[in-house]
Order: sequence, then C-alpha cells, then structure tokens
Amino acid sequence: TAEGGEVETATFIVGTEPTFPPFEMTDESGAITGFDIELIKAIAEDQGFEVEIQSIGFDALIPAVQSGNIDIIASGMTITEAREEQVDFSAPYIDAGLAIAVAADNSDVNSVDDLQDLVASVQIGSTGHEKAQELLDAGVLSEVKTFNTVDVVMMELVNGGADVVINDLPVTQAYMVQQPGTIKIAGEKLESESYGFAVRSGNEELLTMIDAGLQNVIEDGTYDEIQSKYFS
Ligand code: GLN
Repeated sequence: TAEGGEVETATFIVGTEPTFPPFEMTDESGAITGFDIELIKAIAEDQGFEVEIQSIGFDALIPAVQSGNIDIIASGMTITEAREEQVDFSAPYIDAGLAIAVAADNSDVNSVDDLQDLVASVQIGSTGHEKAQELLDAGVLSEVKTFNTVDVVMMELVNGGADVVINDLPVTQAYMVQQPGTIKIAGEKLESESYGFAVRSGNEELLTMIDAGLQNVIEDGTYDEIQSKYFS
C-alpha cells in the first residue's frame, strides 16, 4: 500500500522448463538462465516489476498459468492457434522452427521423406511432439517416445533408442556445439515458428506490460545485447 510512503513492487512468477539451451537452462551454480530468462528479466526491469523463476514441466506450464500458480510462461513456447485458445501470448520475441536430428553417422535420413518405420524421440507437449504424432498417425513413423526434458530426448537418440529427434532447431544446434560428433541435423527446417511469452487468458494488464517492455528493450539495444550473448 501507499501508506508509510512505501511503494510495493509486484512480483510475478515466471514458469520455465530449463532443459532448453540457449533459451533456458541451469548454470553451474544451479540458477536458471538463458535467452528467455534474461529477456523477461529485462522486460520486468523496464516495466518496474520483479520476477521469480520457477522450473516446471513443459506440459504443465499452460495448466499452471491457467490455475494462477504461475503468472508468465517463458519457455521457448511456440505461438500456436491451439494454445491461443488456452492462454494469451505476447508479441513474438524470436523466430525458431522444427528440425529433424539423427545420429552423426546416420546417412539414411536426409529429409522428412526418409522417416518411414523409424522411431522418434520428442519432448512431451512440444510442437515437435505434435509433428511426430502427425507422422505416426499418417503411418510414417512406427513409434513416438516422449520424455519430460530435452536432455533425455537427446540421450535417447545418442543411445540408439530412437532414430530421430524432432525438436526446435536452435536447441538442437546448441546441443551439437555442446556434444560435438554425437548428432546432426537432417535436411531443411521443417516449419517456422515464433516464440511468445504467455499469460492467463484475459490478463491484459500483465500482457500490456510485457509487450511494452519488449518494445522498449528492442528499441534501447538490450534485446540485441542478450541475443548476441546467447547466439554468437
Ligand atoms: N517451441 C516448442 C513448443 O513450443 C518447444 C518448446 C520447449 O520444448 N521448451 O512446443
């Protein structure tokens, strides 16, 4: 309250699934960091609110924002029509897209046309999962294995439990840099996607702040600074 002259700063809880470098990950000290996290923090600073970062399973993020357990999703979440029915998205803040990854020594898979009878590994609830499910329903893939975190999704491919991973291209590229010689990208980007921050449907006040802050940090160069730190 304004009584006593103290100004209270609002704190919003940001939910994220931090196995998604360079967008969200855990650093050596155990703190959650990454492009999305620094960007939402910069937006918060610009708009004069505080954020508290909480780790949540990817498929639990939308239910958590709907129930009010978290206020904002910052988790490399693609803006899709189906999700627009469940949450409200900010303006898009970065472009990504899906790609197919295979083991580094796999020369059989060079495009989406080479997936007949193969096993895919995907993160549960992701757009990569949706794409894999479509390919399963169409009789292309023979099995879709789902995991909660992207590190395990990748491990399944590396260990030979799956033939392909369908995941966001920048995250797969980051894995290739971190674990050289293990996996590679097969063919072209499958789809283009844009990420947005999400809030509970109808939470216009918060969404307006996020959009205004995003605009400001783009204009003042903060966005570019964060981007060059994570995408060099
Ligand atoms: N961008 C993809 C999606 O929104 C994957 C996000 C993620 O796994 N963190 O489904």
